Amino acid sequence: MLDKRQFYIDGAWCDPVAGQDLDVIDPSTEEACAVISLGGAADTDMAVAAARAALPGWLHSDPAERLALVKRIGEVYAERAEDMAQAISLEMGAPIDLARGSQVGAGTSHIRNFIKAFEQIRLVEPLGDHAPNDRIIREGVGVCALITPWNWPMNQVTLKVIPALLAGCTMVLKPSEIAPLSGMVWAEILDAAGTPKGVFNMVNGDGPGVGTQLSGHPDVDMVSFTGSTRAGIAISRNAAETLKRVHLELGGKGANLIFADADDRAVQRGVAHCFQNTGQSCNAPTRMLVERSIYDQTVEQARELAEGTRVGPASESGKHIGPLVSQTQFDKVQDLIQKGMDEGARLVAGGLGRPEGVNRGYFVRPTVFADVSNDMTIAREEIFGPVLSIMPFDSEEEAIAIANDTVYGLTNYVQSGDGARRNRMARQLRAGMVEMNGKSRGAGSPFGGMKQSGNGREGGVWGIEDFLEVKAVSGWAPEAE
Ligand code: NAD
Repeated sequence: MLDKRQFYIDGAWCDPVAGQDLDVIDPSTEEACAVISLGGAADTDMAVAAARAALPGWLHSDPAERLALVKRIGEVYAERAEDMAQAISLEMGAPIDLARGSQVGAGTSHIRNFIKAFEQIRLVEPLGDHAPNDRIIREGVGVCALITPWNWPMNQVTLKVIPALLAGCTMVLKPSEIAPLSGMVWAEILDAAGTPKGVFNMVNGDGPGVGTQLSGHPDVDMVSFTGSTRAGIAISRNAAETLKRVHLELGGKGANLIFADADDRAVQRGVAHCFQNTGQSCNAPTRMLVERSIYDQTVEQARELAEGTRVGPASESGKHIGPLVSQTQFDKVQDLIQKGMDEGARLVAGGLGRPEGVNRGYFVRPTVFADVSNDMTIAREEIFGPVLSIMPFDSEEEAIAIANDTVYGLTNYVQSGDGARRNRMARQLRAGMVEMNGKSRGAGSPFGGMKQSGNGREGGVWGIEDFLEVKAVSGWAPEAE
């Protein structure tokens, strides 16, 4: 069993002051694969103090130095790609090919895109010709607490740490205690890349402990959080006392609007995306809204696709889906499948229990419900498992009304061969992102939600700006620039 009980504070690995052991469970076997330490207030205070002490130097460092550091981090990240993939696969159950591909790859592309985006940001710029002695200066917000979840660990860590570094912020990262091993590899990468001491710190812990200590800490200026809406609310409340900037990336209940004139691959894409990462993605298209004339054939196609989706251990190579991350998530998904049946949705594939022949590991059956109405629990709550809900619609207006009838607003999807209709839908859907006809958003596109899916945007120029303050200066001496 791996011993990963140390924290990374002030440029060195150190033993916890007030730590409590926690086993990391391999979700494919339900066995402990590592032990970490859950920190206490003394550990949090040390990490925040290190970040605070490093702030003046880093905040006012040459932006070229920060860019050079991020480029080195990108190089070391590439060298450690296999270690990272193994850590992610072990801790949260992503099949190894998915871990090597999309999971590690998300970090690679975020680092690359942030490097490009930083080159576009003007940290000092004139207000306008009417005010020749005015300057707008952008500088880092300060000490940041970065709190991340377990479902796409390096996607979320790089979306926070890299822009914070570029902006001139110092930070304390608290990865998910359920999937902390990738965070340990990440800290080793930052250390090897030569991150100045105190600029990046990492403490493991849980929500009630280190998470709460960070969100309420008087020396933390900003919290950037990805995870559940429940924790987002708790963090916002706790951070209000010290008026921190709070950036939230929360859950979703994505609608995928499939019109009769959609391309042949639309249903296949929609089902695969819903099940990807075993359904554990905040932007998963979990509500499939289908035009009535193709409803029955779509339900049948989704059934076949679900029944053809293989489930298997994370360590195995292949295109199968892995287990859910934990017993808690397994129980939650089972409970929601039961609710779907109790509330009258038609189960067309999957259902309760593990796949046939499997008796351990948090594996669930790829599940499809048809005839779902939007007031059912499975249409309203984020399930975070491979469970698809299909419902019919008769008109564009009805499709928009159903799609927008949710507390969430993260990503919606449209499939239609009619360009004018796609544009109409994109304008009317209340979500931070609308992806149409299977075209993924381009490099540097902002990721984030409306309503209870959160605020702020991660990625690209927007992702760096979220870590910057705007300072308005008059009486500037252009001749001394
Ligand atoms: P969570 O929100 O409880 O945990 C995410 C992170 O926040 C972890 O690092 C955790 O330690 C920390 N945390 C939890 N409570 C906190 C608090 N009060 N103060 C500060 N930090 C806190 O998420 P989870 O338990 O890992 O998953 C539960 C549900 O959250 C999932 O079922 C899913 O619906 C949702 N989720 C969403 C996303 C997303 O990307 N939007 C990611 C993970 C989980």
